[in-house]
Amino acid sequence: MIAVLKQGATKQQRDSLCEWFKNMGLEVHISEGKYKTIIGLIGDTSKVDIELLESLSIIESVKRISEPFKNANRKFHTEDSVVDVGGVKIGGGNFAIIAGPCSVETREQVMAVAKAVKASGAKLLRGGAFKPRTSPYDFQGLKADGIELLLEAKRETGLPIVSEIMNINDIELFRDVDLIQVGARNMQNFDLLKALGKTDKPILLKRGLANNLKELLMSAEYIMAGGNERVILCERGIRTFETYTRNTLDLSAVPMLHELTHLPVIVDPSHATGISRLVESMSLAAAASGADGVMIEVHNDPERALCDGAQSLTPEQFDRVAKRVMKVREALS
Ligand code: PEP
Ligand code: MN
Repeated sequence: MIAVLKQGATKQQRDSLCEWFKNMGLEVHISEGKYKTIIGLIGDTSKVDIELLESLSIIESVKRISEPFKNANRKFHTEDSVVDVGGVKIGGGNFAIIAGPCSVETREQVMAVAKAVKASGAKLLRGGAFKPRTSPYDFQGLKADGIELLLEAKRETGLPIVSEIMNINDIELFRDVDLIQVGARNMQNFDLLKALGKTDKPILLKRGLANNLKELLMSAEYIMAGGNERVILCERGIRTFETYTRNTLDLSAVPMLHELTHLPVIVDPSHATGISRLVESMSLAAAASGADGVMIEVHNDPERALCDGAQSLTPEQFDRVAKRVMKVREALS
């Protein structure tokens, strides 16, 4: 349920109203926008007498929220959320290009890619240290050593880093990782989401291969319900009957999510297509669709990559894509 306050409501009036709600056992969220203050209520709101509430002099309107996601709901928080990732803002008009290898393989590889993508305008460096591979015989990532190499690349370039967590027991290893990624395969690992909700780290939550947007938002809700509101959503393609591409990029997810939620939404055209030559057009389309960023896989030697070489761009290809994406952004502004 949300209660919209009238413009003249004083802080004292607002506080005593919030106390009243809290005494009913409700969780209270205040969103102070430029024009409106919205009080969001979570819990059993059946006890709230709507008519009584509407009759109060400081109340403009009261509405029940039918969607099961509350904290993530735009009705709770009308303005775009801006998530600060190690000094880089994402959302609310702030666009970020995230780039780097699928997996961290060697110091030389991660350093070369980090320097190249930074020079081309990337704002964050990605790299997997824990890899969720379909086959147990494939490269599983350098794990803690991979995180160390990313941290070295961060010290060298100043780029904040993004890396995927797979296991709740590894949270401590990610203490200096700026943006913790929850991959598609773990989107509904609810214990992991709850544990991340107790941290103060920004979380990049990727859409599951076979999950709809409501399920994605409910997973975001798991993190936010624990107190961590710093969530960025990522559309990375879904499984359909099409087989020419690795997944099907659901680009309409971007404007739809922007309607439904205040959280930033980025697009991963690399995993969505699985084909490096399609990454440019889908990155441009993502920027045009209003995404708050793109995440692109880049490798210094894609043919020899230990993971996802076929969808990885060379640094030269990435340079062109990054420049063209920024041109789309300028054209829109
Ligand atoms: C990744 O970003 O490296 C990754 C494994 O992505 P996804 O979870 O979207 O497959
Ligand atoms: Mn990958």
